[in-house]
Amino acid sequence: MANALVGTSVPLVPCPMGTENLLAKELGISAQPRALVETLRRRQVVKCDVGRVNDRNFLLIIGVGFDGEVVRRLAAVRTGHISHLSYFWPIWRTFWEHSFPRLKIIADGEPIFDDLGLAFIGNISRYAVGLRICRDALYDDGLFDLVVFRCTARPRLVWHAAWTLLRMHPLKGDVIYRQFRTLRVEAAGAVPTQVDGDPGPDTPLDIEVLPRRINLLVPVERKPAFWPWKGLPV
Ligand SMILES: [Mg+2]
Repeated sequence: MANALVGTSVPLVPCPMGTENLLAKELGISAQPRALVETLRRRQVVKCDVGRVNDRNFLLIIGVGFDGEVVRRLAAVRTGHISHLSYFWPIWRTFWEHSFPRLKIIADGEPIFDDLGLAFIGNISRYAVGLRICRDALYDDGLFDLVVFRCTARPRLVWHAAWTLLRMHPLKGDVIYRQFRTLRVEAAGAVPTQVDGDPGPDTPLDIEVLPRRINLLVPVERKPAFWPWKGLPV
């Protein structure tokens, strides 16, 4: 749906339906019918960056490695609507069976990572279950946020997860957090990815930002964003 609207002036209204509607939450859109009607009536439009990954558009987030394997496992067994609980077994099995791939990452032409781990590329700060992996991401700044967790073994993944829950992961030495316009992700083998929650292409990935390429309708009155970490040295 969003694909058809990229590059046009027709605005999209992200409604908070389904398991997680990260974009609606990011934009402060309510599921209340009255609030939705008000949003449609007042026609406040914001422009949102769109991503291209290997010639496919995306709006929210890409996960490379661990995350991609979880979503692929879920997609292989799902038969209809899913809930948070649907992720339990895919995460559990991936946790015990995943071997962290060596990723080679080039951001804006600069090699920045060549090691074992997992990576996320985000247009918005939100991820599932309240996590803010790409915590400083803004959807209209013409940049995407990249988070790379250096990781060779399960205990380190748990450690990364704990720091991410606290939204303090960019402060760690074995986490790369930066913004980019173009990105290439290579690996020796085919590493799975997820793109906006669905199975994505295997590596290699070529990702670019299409700045402010889609219009979104948002509520006129929105709750101000609360960023408890703003002001911390990052
Ligand atoms: Mg951005």
